Amino acid sequence: MKYEPVIGLEVHVELVTESKMFCGCPVVDSVEAEPNIAVCPVCSAMPGALPVANERAVEYGILVGLALSCTIEPISIFARKNYFYPDMPKAYQISQFEDPLATNGELLIQTDEGEKVIRVLRAHLEEDAGKLTHIEDASLVDLNRAGVPLLEIVSQPDMHSAAEARTYAENLRDILRYLGVNSGDMEKGVIRFEANTSVRPVGTEKLGIRTEVKNLNSFRAMEDAINYEIARQSKILDEGGKVDQVTMGWDESKGKTYTMRGKEDSHDYRYFPEPDLPPLKVDDAWRERVRAELPELPHAKFKRFLAEYNLSEYDAKVLVSQREIAKYFEKTVKKKANPKAVVNWMTGELFALMNRAEIDITEIKVSPTALAELVNLVSEGKINKNTAKEVLGEVFEHGKSPKAIVEEKGLAQVSDSDLISELVSSVINAHQDEATSYREGKTGVANWLFGQVMRQARGRANPQILREELIRQLEE
Ligand SMILES: [Zn+2]
Repeated sequence: MKYEPVIGLEVHVELVTESKMFCGCPVVDSVEAEPNIAVCPVCSAMPGALPVANERAVEYGILVGLALSCTIEPISIFARKNYFYPDMPKAYQISQFEDPLATNGELLIQTDEGEKVIRVLRAHLEEDAGKLTHIEDASLVDLNRAGVPLLEIVSQPDMHSAAEARTYAENLRDILRYLGVNSGDMEKGVIRFEANTSVRPVGTEKLGIRTEVKNLNSFRAMEDAINYEIARQSKILDEGGKVDQVTMGWDESKGKTYTMRGKEDSHDYRYFPEPDLPPLKVDDAWRERVRAELPELPHAKFKRFLAEYNLSEYDAKVLVSQREIAKYFEKTVKKKANPKAVVNWMTGELFALMNRAEIDITEIKVSPTALAELVNLVSEGKINKNTAKEVLGEVFEHGKSPKAIVEEKGLAQVSDSDLISELVSSVINAHQDEATSYREGKTGVANWLFGQVMRQARGRANPQILREELIRQLEE
């Protein structure tokens, strides 16, 4: 590779507070709610209406800042960012500019070359804009989203591939979900990315000219847009040209970036301190009260799961990706079930059932106690794996106990060797030709005979005992 990409990400996160950032309007579902049902004089910019900062939103900002090991600034300042926003009647956005809430943090990511620290420059509070819907010859304005609290998290340009940027963004999403400050529901645009990408000749230090791609709503779109920009900028440099510093959009259908406008500098926005809001003061006591709310974060949990349950890195990563999944796993293991077996049942059959039913782990009828019971029925040899799948399906539907289902339906595994021995000899007697060809060296026929015996046992024979007995009798 001739050029080294340099990437920084700005991540806009909608905070799941009950009310908006600067007024008492409820935060409603921006996709499903009727337009303009959550609007008041403050968020529709009526003259004389005054903003008041949402305490819970500030606490969520502090919580994220602490999770990213940021310094929480004792004083931060709200500022007006002046701009023509067709979806924001005030014609400015209240944001934080020179003095943000949180500064100088970091996020650890796993890359192919091991762990890597991505520095976080800042995290600041701001408000979202409304939503425009363009119809034939008009545009419709919906202000439900105007004033919804946002936290903007800005990384340093520490990433050097689209894959690294994606890993950073995914880890950040996992942390936000753990903290319960964001739904993680990407389809509804509750997390949006802006990617700053430049390239420079490998081995040089000086940063190249960067472009900024706005409004990336999915990990996929972000990764594709960055890769597209890396290729486009490299080609320009190869041809002896110069990259323009511009703000761009991403055309998903064409798989291309396009220029929206020349890059504006911060002074174009004429930022100035918001005169209607006092400086935001966070004293030590408040910060420490919020710190007490911090849960164990994904990375720490990952390390603990590896050590405590002796899992593979892959399994541990799947389990810690969501707090509720990790919790379910630990509750199940506490019921004395083997951790590795629990992971296998969760990530295999249980997740498949959940996907088919389109529900998540908090909604299922299979309690941790029930899953532990099922895992133990298998490990104790009471039922075989195929029966266990059938039983899990039943528990998933009706929420009964696996033991009760096994008893009710007579599903217990047959481990009685006399009984299995009888079944094997009756099958061999009925299929003398196949038994002969086995003895002549076509050993593959044993699998077919195994299937015949298992069918006679209605699928419930202990497979290991069955196989041993079958081979014994065939080789007699
Ligand atoms: Zn309002």
